[in-house]
Amino acid sequence: MESDSIECVSSIDGLDEEETSPPHHQPSSKPHGGAAPSAGIAPATSVHELLECPVCTNSMYPPIHQCQNGHTLCSTCKTRVHNRCPTCRQELGDIRCLALEKVAESLELPCKHNSLGCPEIFPYYSKLKHEAQCSYRPYNCPYAGSECSVVGDIPLLVTHLRDDHKVDMHTGCTFNHRYVKSNPREVENATWMLTVFHCFGQYFCLHFEAFQLGMAPVYMAFLRFMGDENEARNFSYSLEVGANGRKLIWEGTPRSVRDSHRKVRDSHDGLVIQRNMALFFSGGDRKELKLRVTGRIWKEQQNNDAGVCMPNLCG
Ligand SMILES: [Zn+2]
Ligand SMILES: [Zn+2]
Ligand SMILES: [Zn+2]
Ligand SMILES: [Zn+2]
Repeated sequence: MESDSIECVSSIDGLDEEETSPPHHQPSSKPHGGAAPSAGIAPATSVHELLECPVCTNSMYPPIHQCQNGHTLCSTCKTRVHNRCPTCRQELGDIRCLALEKVAESLELPCKHNSLGCPEIFPYYSKLKHEAQCSYRPYNCPYAGSECSVVGDIPLLVTHLRDDHKVDMHTGCTFNHRYVKSNPREVENATWMLTVFHCFGQYFCLHFEAFQLGMAPVYMAFLRFMGDENEARNFSYSLEVGANGRKLIWEGTPRSVRDSHRKVRDSHDGLVIQRNMALFFSGGDRKELKLRVTGRIWKEQQNNDAGVCMPNLCG
């Protein structure tokens, strides 16, 4: 836990007994050709290795360069090596390796997220484009407030958030959190909280933080869905904060964790509370921030095939 002074006191009204298996990406179709099992597509290793840049080890795409002695390297590395071949130190010149470019063109390779379940096979030159969009590509760690480089599928990240970031984990689709901060005058960008919710067999990240919006300090709460954007659209959520006969209500669609925490925050896609209002909601002498945020996650009905939301589950 970081050393900021926000504490989160929560009580959960949701059902604790929800026994749902973690989301598992199942390949929705067999690999082309049918016969190969999803994990068993053997890449053409030797040719594939030839197409790996010996300097940066990324796959090479045209223009592929070579030195006068035939050592290859990618176009990105070529601009960095000051005209010296990194392998033999000879002058590099400006020689394309057309033969290797042609070999690459004839290759068909499985998506590099094959081991994560992607069954697709692509011609070499369109593979990269797919991989950038592949729905099996690993997710970045959704934890904000530190530069964390962990990537993986959702079950791995859930474990990582719990064990390494000591994030609070809750089961249920309703929540009732109290955010307490003893010195609300200190609004720093680094002040934030993350709680993970598990409901409908999915995981959601509830973010709460304080930051400067222009000249004005604000608090913001928003939900991110641990999965892809198209799945996120199956869910909605509401957040409520208030006291003394006033309240603010936010209703929205959770954003995918594919969208960075910062991107969501900067688009104000959540419940934004001005500090004055937050202090008013806190009651007392306005020296301490005490915000009670309640909320609910529900599944939208348009998807009739599976997992229909039963209202009695939502308390
Ligand atoms: Zn390279
Ligand atoms: Zn060389
Ligand atoms: Zn893929
Ligand atoms: Zn992390």
